Amino acid sequence: MRRRRPPKKLILLYERLNGYFGPLRWWPGETPFEVICGAILTQNTAWHNVEKAIGNLKKVEICSFKGIRETSEEQIATLIRPSGYYHIKTARLKAFVSFLEHEYGGDMKKMFAEETISLREKLLGVKGIGEETADSILLYAGGKPVFVVDAYTRRVLCRHGLISEGVSASYAAVQQFFMGNLEPDVELFNQFHALFVNLGKKFCRKVPLCRLGCPLYGTPFSEEGERSCRMGPQPGNGNRILPCRA
Ligand code: SF4
Repeated sequence: MRRRRPPKKLILLYERLNGYFGPLRWWPGETPFEVICGAILTQNTAWHNVEKAIGNLKKVEICSFKGIRETSEEQIATLIRPSGYYHIKTARLKAFVSFLEHEYGGDMKKMFAEETISLREKLLGVKGIGEETADSILLYAGGKPVFVVDAYTRRVLCRHGLISEGVSASYAAVQQFFMGNLEPDVELFNQFHALFVNLGKKFCRKVPLCRLGCPLYGTPFSEEGERSCRMGPQPGNGNRILPCRA
């Protein structure tokens, strides 16, 4: 069955961002297990801290199922300290490894051979794995066509009037906004998510830098979106009220 063509505003959004940032080839990681470690360690911290933590795990060659399973919590916590919340994150790494062992005998290929919806449900049952982490694991480690929604994505869509606050900005609703309108394409979902992350870091911060070269500035997604974007704080006009607090 052929999917209908994506709405113009979604094509416009992608084209503007892709044209500005180009191919981003996210997520870094030499193995699927390393990608999963990154997805768990990146919760509530900046990526450069995760890189240090993963670098430490790799230095002593324990960034693997066997390595994490056989290493003491104390040692793992010391190694991943740069990622913050290191005791909690150690417990999360251990919980994931225990899940992998009990459900799939420690075999990642077996895990990713499972049907996507069923695997997603199971991942969500692992302590410390929420929707964004589960979907990052599915997309970036497993190569499954699942759209990852993060705070940057919500913020951009909200500020441009493409979604509104409240229920329509729920994880599931935002994910459906993309997955209901796009072909299930791993590369596209990978790049789209990476584009939002880069946009959020560079321009669409808590105080947005709309007029400092943001590729979405003035993009007419809708009358509401156009107005919302221009109401943001700008150099020289102070911090005006934003229509969205995302
Ligand atoms: S134009 Fe402003 S509100 Fe829109 S994405 Fe850029 S920084 Fe965010």
